[in-house]
Amino acid sequence: MLATAEALATLLAAARPIAGTESVPTLDALNRTLSADVTSPLDVPPMNTSSMDGYAIRTADLTALRASTLPISQRIPAGHAPEPLKPGTAARIFTGATVPPRADAIVMQEQAEAAGDEVTILHNPQAGEWITAQGADIRNGSVILPAGTRLTPQALGLAASVGCAELEVRRRVKVAVFFTGDELTMPGEPLKPGAIYNSNRFTLRGLLEKLGCEVTDYGIVSDKLDATRATVREAAAAHDLILTCGGVSVGEEDHVKPAVEAEGRLAMWQIAMKPGKPLAFGVVRRAAAGEDSAAALAPEAAETFFIGLPGNPVSSFATFLLFVRPFVLRLAGVQTVAPRALSLRADFTQSKADRRNEFLRARINPAGGLDLFPNQSSAVLTSTVWGDGLIDNPPNHAIQAGETVRFIPFSELLN
Ligand code: AMP
Ligand code: MG
Repeated sequence: MLATAEALATLLAAARPIAGTESVPTLDALNRTLSADVTSPLDVPPMNTSSMDGYAIRTADLTALRASTLPISQRIPAGHAPEPLKPGTAARIFTGATVPPRADAIVMQEQAEAAGDEVTILHNPQAGEWITAQGADIRNGSVILPAGTRLTPQALGLAASVGCAELEVRRRVKVAVFFTGDELTMPGEPLKPGAIYNSNRFTLRGLLEKLGCEVTDYGIVSDKLDATRATVREAAAAHDLILTCGGVSVGEEDHVKPAVEAEGRLAMWQIAMKPGKPLAFGVVRRAAAGEDSAAALAPEAAETFFIGLPGNPVSSFATFLLFVRPFVLRLAGVQTVAPRALSLRADFTQSKADRRNEFLRARINPAGGLDLFPNQSSAVLTSTVWGDGLIDNPPNHAIQAGETVRFIPFSELLN
């Protein structure tokens, strides 16, 4: 059996960023991945600005004049260019307004008393007080967002703050997905004896869409070798990754394995994890270059990746989060793909240790500790909705109440 870390390392070593890039409006670039550094063409703020409503003064004037009452020589609202500050005077100024040349401090209005066209300063300001210096946030020419950054709302705001109207991003990762199993029925259809609903289609589609993939969903592919081979071949031509679900257990009566082996190469992994265990990783040869669909993809890519997930709903969910998510993010050119884990207190005891790396569905209780979902079966999808994340419990480790465990929140895994 393969350790989880080993399986992940093998996957990530194979994942190379897809070649295509495009320029998109910054407003439409949420969740996309930068393919080039964003460099600021200006200082932010572009000038010295006041961070208070108050009075702009020159500190040396107060000392030299030995007076704290100064005439008000100008009024500077935000968005207006000031005149240089006249010696021995104060300028009325507002938050975000440009500090006039010669002024070196702002006295907040709460520390000043205005009467007519004069103001009395009730405070001895330091030079620089309440002034945000030009370039204090961002320097002209500096890289504000490196290539490989996945664009969050705040990253879009940062790009916009330096005037970027368009961003260079990698094209979306194209993923084909299909499902196997004669027992699978779509919601809306009557459930025949022995049948179950194809819940994984909904979970996996949602997970892929959250990652920003362009998804082709082939639905349920009938359990025949010819049909499976044809789907795999067709999917390979126009996608970066083919993802399937079900039929990767050992000894399974299934045509996914022979179909992928006939169209490419496949490794069947037994991963020492629970839930999960079986995972298939391989490649499918792509139709000869020159065909329209293939031409749209990276010209150097002669093969499409293949990942086969186990069918049990919690197993496919967990293996997606732990393996497919980082793999797809790497294809998208994302640098940082590891989820950040928290160290939290277990408020339960799990005396029976498993020899596999367990990923237990747990949630954070009001006391800040973790509660465990009582049924950890890989068929119980309820646990994934009840939980806030997964406890990463190493092999052969029993958990004592009060012990600190490694918790990976779903918020880290579902973005
Ligand atoms: P398999 O990996 O094909 O051996 O399937 C393991 C278990 O997961 C079986 O109980 C299947 O019925 C179930 N299963 C397989 N595919 C799905 C699916 N798409 N949705 C829900 N359950 C599934
Ligand atoms: Mg099956």
